[in-house]
Amino acid sequence: MKIVFVLGKCCSIYRRRMMLNICSLIGDQHEVEEISPEKNLYQKLQEMKPNILYMIGEDREHREILEIFRGKNVMTVSDSHEDCGIYINDEPEQVFPLLVKAIESGQDLSAVKGITYRHKTEKAERWDISKSKPTDKNTSFLTYSTRGCKGNCSFCNIKLTQGSLRVREISEVIEEIKSFTAIEGFNNHFRFADPSFDSNSPKRMKEIARAIIKELPGHTYGANFRPDFHTIADVELMTLLYESGLISAFVGAETGNEEDLQLYNKGTTVFDAEKTIELFRRYDCAVECGFIMFNPFSTTERLRKNVAFLSRNRLATFDHLNQILTTTPDLPIMQKIIAEGLLYAHSYDVRDKMVKALMLILRDIKNELNKKAIEIYSCLSTKEAKRQKRIATCNNDRQAFGIAEKYEMLMESVIMLESDSMVEWFNNILDMTDKGRPLTEIITRSNNYLNDEKLKVTIKYFTTLEGQMRAELQQLWDSREDDHFN
Ligand code: SF4
Repeated sequence: MKIVFVLGKCCSIYRRRMMLNICSLIGDQHEVEEISPEKNLYQKLQEMKPNILYMIGEDREHREILEIFRGKNVMTVSDSHEDCGIYINDEPEQVFPLLVKAIESGQDLSAVKGITYRHKTEKAERWDISKSKPTDKNTSFLTYSTRGCKGNCSFCNIKLTQGSLRVREISEVIEEIKSFTAIEGFNNHFRFADPSFDSNSPKRMKEIARAIIKELPGHTYGANFRPDFHTIADVELMTLLYESGLISAFVGAETGNEEDLQLYNKGTTVFDAEKTIELFRRYDCAVECGFIMFNPFSTTERLRKNVAFLSRNRLATFDHLNQILTTTPDLPIMQKIIAEGLLYAHSYDVRDKMVKALMLILRDIKNELNKKAIEIYSCLSTKEAKRQKRIATCNNDRQAFGIAEKYEMLMESVIMLESDSMVEWFNNILDMTDKGRPLTEIITRSNNYLNDEKLKVTIKYFTTLEGQMRAELQQLWDSREDDHFN
């Protein structure tokens, strides 16, 4: 069978990893391909002639794709879109291989556990996480040490899709990372796709770090952390994470105000997020954060606190400032949305009229940029410079370290400028919306900040800096080789 996965633009790394798990389970017996929304997507999909189309992610394109394949001889499957031919209710790694087998052999699909096809079938067993094997489709070099998450956030479906918390054998994780060497493009940098790496206990995180130091010297990696990570991190853990090559941390801060944290059932505080961000930076990690700017209960006061948080922590990006809570019907937060009478079609209405107006303005601005194919780079990150610094440290190479550090500082200053400019822009449109200024005036003022040329220049300058750093390092290494041969 030919199975094509359509990954949404904002597909999270856990969902990508889920797809890789499925590939590792059925890739030997079936032709498996993936495609992301891009130009000519529909035409390309039709040319691929899939038997099964599996949609991953929450993008608008999925509804359009469904329309195209409706009534055709293609089975559409999803674990996030109930309007697909088959909806997967339980862990996709457990359910999907059996579903494919049933489709292939023409079995009655109502015997497949964990799906909704005409009606909801029996619950599926939990997936045995040790069954995933390395796959050469893993070109993002994602591994994982846990399944599920210790958190219980009201907007997150990890508990629903991944079930309760389970841990993977550390030796399996190490073997998988070793297998990346056979995949083109691997530069000894990998990423943990665990929803929260700190769902591992501190003791286990230390064991994993020690195993990486012993078995994979010279490697670097990134991982996701909860905002209260600082409460369980002692000096030994931080030192081990540093020495094992942790260079980038994604902190799920989500918001900069306590009211939203309560709404999200995060169980952490704004102070926690700031402490954790500061801790990682102290151990030379590049920090990115998960952020939800708008939800149905947002007020301009909460938005201002959010912007202040991003500003204080030098994390304001266009995407963060535009990020809107996305929901699926089964999320716990939906209960509050329904109770407050804010359910609207597949999504929700926004209580505060001012915030609603602001969201519409931002949508217009975004559409304008999309029309002009302007991508606002949402995660300018110094992680490549951090990686080079860490490699230089491992090799005791002071010169290489100095080069990487010089470029890192330049990149940092671009990020700071960008963050300040985004904060100024957002505060500006907040003020104007507060004062009830006309839409045209707000968009015109916005263009002063978000004008095409400025955006292109920032991105180009940042990319050029990365390129120059690599070239200067290469020059250094080449000159040493020349010296060696002379
Ligand atoms: S901590 Fe992160 S992954 Fe875990 S439930 Fe909350 S949002 Fe989801």
